[in-house]
Amino acid sequence: MAKTIFERIIDREVPADIVYEDEHILAFRDISPQAPIHILLIPKKHHARHVAVPLEDHSVFSQLLAAAQRVSRQLQLDKTGYRLVINNGPDGGETVPHLHLHLLGGRHLSWPPG
Ligand code: AMP
Repeated sequence: MAKTIFERIIDREVPADIVYEDEHILAFRDISPQAPIHILLIPKKHHARHVAVPLEDHSVFSQLLAAAQRVSRQLQLDKTGYRLVINNGPDGGETVPHLHLHLLGGRHLSWPPG
């Protein structure tokens, strides 16, 4: 199967503005930011989406959330606040079939989402 754009970023075939990396997670700025700070956190291991992660790989969820907490501090969003979002499938608005967590901040975010 062809690589997704995110796998190509992981493999450094496509450039990205990387803000954080560890053994399991890569985080970089979204190319089309919806807030002053808009970071995508992705697992290096490919899972198509939230619902596709098998039980034996559930540690990826804590790895993503822990990395998001680190990045929120690094970018000084920990005091002002931020939002974490996973878009899953067509109704969720998913456009890239590689599990990713959006970290949005730097402005007040309205609720509910559109
Ligand atoms: P989603 O709609 O939840 O699947 O989110 C996919 C996100 O990936 C969108 O917010 C896009 O703007 C972002 N995106 C797509 N291609 C790139 C890229 N090459 N670098 C950074 N972000 C990207």
